[in-house]
Amino acid sequence: MEDWELGDKWQDDEVVNQQERIDDGKGLFLGFSSMALFIAISIILFMWYMTKPRLLEIGHNLPTVIGVIVGILVIAWVLEYLLIVLSVITERNLFPFRIRNGKRIALLFSLSLRLGRLFGISKDRISNSFVKVNNALVRGREKWIDNKNLLILLPRCIQNFRCKQRVIEDIDNCKDCGECIITQFKSLRERYKLNINVVTGGNIARKIIGRLKPSVILAVACERELVSGIEDIGFISVIGITNYRPEGPCKNTMVDMEEVDKTIKFLFKNRKGLLVEEGQLRVRAKM
Ligand code: SF4
Repeated sequence: MEDWELGDKWQDDEVVNQQERIDDGKGLFLGFSSMALFIAISIILFMWYMTKPRLLEIGHNLPTVIGVIVGILVIAWVLEYLLIVLSVITERNLFPFRIRNGKRIALLFSLSLRLGRLFGISKDRISNSFVKVNNALVRGREKWIDNKNLLILLPRCIQNFRCKQRVIEDIDNCKDCGECIITQFKSLRERYKLNINVVTGGNIARKIIGRLKPSVILAVACERELVSGIEDIGFISVIGITNYRPEGPCKNTMVDMEEVDKTIKFLFKNRKGLLVEEGQLRVRAKM
C-alpha cells in the first residue's frame, strides 16, 4: 500500500489554480470511464487480431480458442460495467453479491484521468465524480452495511491552522472556540459515541482502522486523498465527503455539515436509539 501524508498530493500543483469547491455529478466519471472501457476493449481486440497469424502458426485452432476466451472476458467486463452503472444510477446493488471497488474500477479510474487530461478536465473534477460514484455504490449495498462501528476520519487541515490544540491525539482537546468545525464534530462524538479521528495521512489512518476495526467509514478529505483512501481500504465500505478549500488546499478547509448530517442519518437509519434528528447538525462554525 502507498504511504502518504496529507498535502503530498498537492505538492506539484500551482495552488492558485485550484478550485475552492468542486461539485461534479456522477455522470462525469461514468462518461469518461465508458470511453476508457471502449478504448481498452478496442486495444485488447486489436492485439488479438494482430497476433492471430502468430497464433495460427502455433496451432490451427488457437486463434479461435483465444478469441473465444477474450470474447467471454470482454463480455463479462462489459456486463459488469453496465451493472455498476445501473447500480450507481439507481443507488441499488443490482449484483447478486456485495460489489467492491476492485482493480477493474481502479484501472478505469486511472484511464479516465488520462482521457480527462486530453479534454482539459482536471483530475480533481474526475476524482470528485468518482467519489460520488463510490458513495452511490456503498449506498446501494445498504443491507450489507454494518453500522455498529462507524468511524469518522477528518483531515488535519480542517482544524484552524493557528490553533495549537492537539486534536490529532484526541478531538476532546478542542477548546470549542468555534474558529473551526472541529467543535461540531466533537459534540457529534459526545452525543452519539462515535469514533472520530483527525489524521495526518494514510499511514496513521491505516493504524487507526487497524486498531478500531470499523465496519463502515465516513471520510472527509480533498478529492485526491479520498481517492487514495477509497482505493487503499477496499474491504471496508467508505463514504467520502469532499471538503472545500476557501483558502487553498491544506489550510482551514471546510465541510458541508448538512451532507455529514445526511450521511450519518443514512448510516444510522436502522440503528435503534441513535437516529439523528432533523437539523441537529446544521449549526455552522464561526469563521
Ligand atoms: S474549534 Fe477552536 S479550539 Fe477547537 S480545534 Fe478549532 S480552532 Fe482549535
